[in-house]
Amino acid sequence: MVVANNLIAGKWTEGTVSAQAIHSPYDGKQIGTFSVPSKEQINQAINQAADAQKAWGQLPIKERSKVLFNFRNILLRDIDKIALLKGSECGKTFAEAKAGLMKGVEVLEYALSIQNLDTGGKAEVSRGVSCEFRREALGVVANITPFNFPAMVPMWTIPIAIALGNSYVWKPSEKTPLTSFFIAEALKEAGLPDGVFTVLQGGHETVNAIIDHPAVKAIGFVGSTKVAKIVYQRGTNLGKRVLSLGGAKNHIVLLPDANLEMSGVGISDSFTGCAGQRCMAASVLLAVGETSNHIEQIVKRASSMELGKQMGAIITKEQVQFLTKSIDAAEKAGAKIILDGRQAKAPAGMEGGNWIGPTILDNVQANSEASRLELFGPILSIIRCKDITHAMSIANSSEYGNACSVFTSNGALAERVAKEAHAGMVGVNVGVPVPREPFSFGGTMESKFGHGDITGEQSLNFWSNYKKITTKWEMQSDSNWMS
Ligand code: NAD
Repeated sequence: MVVANNLIAGKWTEGTVSAQAIHSPYDGKQIGTFSVPSKEQINQAINQAADAQKAWGQLPIKERSKVLFNFRNILLRDIDKIALLKGSECGKTFAEAKAGLMKGVEVLEYALSIQNLDTGGKAEVSRGVSCEFRREALGVVANITPFNFPAMVPMWTIPIAIALGNSYVWKPSEKTPLTSFFIAEALKEAGLPDGVFTVLQGGHETVNAIIDHPAVKAIGFVGSTKVAKIVYQRGTNLGKRVLSLGGAKNHIVLLPDANLEMSGVGISDSFTGCAGQRCMAASVLLAVGETSNHIEQIVKRASSMELGKQMGAIITKEQVQFLTKSIDAAEKAGAKIILDGRQAKAPAGMEGGNWIGPTILDNVQANSEASRLELFGPILSIIRCKDITHAMSIANSSEYGNACSVFTSNGALAERVAKEAHAGMVGVNVGVPVPREPFSFGGTMESKFGHGDITGEQSLNFWSNYKKITTKWEMQSDSNWMS
C-alpha cells in the first residue's frame, strides 16, 4: 500500500481536506491512498518553494546537474519497482510502464546536457560594445499532469525546469497520484534541497490555488483539451506564461504500397498500446484504395493481444462504459465491426478490473462521432478514401493536431503527407511518432495552447528567462547610431 501525501518543504504532509483510496484498474483492489491539501497548506508549500528557489537558482548549473545525475542513477536502480506501481495504478503493462520511465530518463539526460550545450553567447555588436545572453530561472514553476502517464509526462518537465534553477510544484492526476511518491523520494535521495520539489495532490481546486499563487511564474499542463483551455485561460489572464497540451485524434494514412508487416504491426500496436490511452495513439485509419491485405494483418495482430499481458486495463469503469457506448453508437451509424472488444473477458483473477478488447470499426463516416471525438481507448475507426487528397482533407479537418502518420514505400508520397499534415508530429512508417530528444514534443491547434514545445530545445525558453546584457567599457572616439 503506497501513501501519497503532499511533499511540502521536503516533508510528507497529510492534506487536511480529504483522504482518498486508489484502486488498481487491473483488479479493482486498493493499492494506496492520497490526501488533498487545504488552500492554506498549498499557499504555505508554494511560499516555501519560493524561499528554497533563491539558493537553488544561485548555484551554477554544473552543481545543479550533479543532483540530477544522481537522480538518473536512482531512477535506473529502482526502475522495476516504480514501473510495477505505475502500471498497477494506471493500467499499463509492465513493459509499457518501464518504457514510459525510460522516455523520462531520456529527457533527464537531455537536461544533463544543458550545462554543456546552452552556454550562452557573446558578440561584439558595435565598436567597443558587446551583447551577451544569460539564461535565468523564473522562480517557482508548476506542472499539472494527466492520469495516463504518471511518470513520463511529469518527467518531460521536472529535469529541465529544475536544471534551469527553478523550484518545481507538481500536481499529479488524482486518478494516478501514487507514482509521485517514488519520483519525489528519488529526488530527495539524489540530494535535491528541501522545497525545490513540491508535490500537491487533488483535483481542480488544488490546480486553481496553484495557478493563482503570485509566486508561480509559469504553468505547464498536459491533459484533455477542455481542461487545457481552462488552465491556459486562467493562467494567461493572470499574465503568466502557460503551455497547455490537450487531447488528440490521430490519423494514419495507409497507402496500398505499404509494407504489409510494418503496417500490420505498426498500426495495430499504435491503437492497442497503453489500451489506446495515449495522446499519440492511432485513432482513425485513412485507408486509401485497395488495402484489404493490410487491414487483415492489423486485425490479426490486434486480435492476438492477450489482455493483462500484452494489453492493459482501462482507467475507470465509467470509461469502459463510455467506450462500449461509443462502439454501439458507431454500429448504429452504419460502421461494420470487424473486431469487437465489447465482450472481451477479464483475465483470470482480474474480474474486478476495467477491461475492453481491441475494436476495429470499418466503413466509418468522416463526420461521425467515431471519426471526430477523442475516445481514448483501444478503438480504431477505418475510413475508406479514394485517394491521398481525400485522406489528407479528412486528417486536416480535425480540430486536433497532435500526430499524423503515413505507411507507404513511396518517398515522394511520404514527403507529401509530411508537408501537408497540420499535425505537429508526423510519422513515416511509424505508428506512434513521438520525437526522441532533443527533438521536442508538442502538437498544434486544439492539442496545444501556448508557444514552444514541452520538451527538448523548444522548452528551454519556456522554463527560463532569456536575459540580454549590452556592455560598453570605454568611450569611443567615433560614434554610430547605437553609440
Ligand atoms: P484531464 O484533463 O481530465 O486531467 C488532467 C489534469 O487536470 C489532472 O491533473 C486533473 O486533476 C486536472 N483537472 C481536471 N479538471 C480540472 C479543472 N476543471 N480545472 C483544473 N484542473 C483540472 O485529463 P486525463 O483524463 O487525466 O488525461 C487524458 C487526457 O490527456 C486525454 O485527452 C489525452 O489526450 C490527454 N493527454 C495529452 C497529452 C499531450 O501530450 N497532448 C499527453 C497525455 C495525455
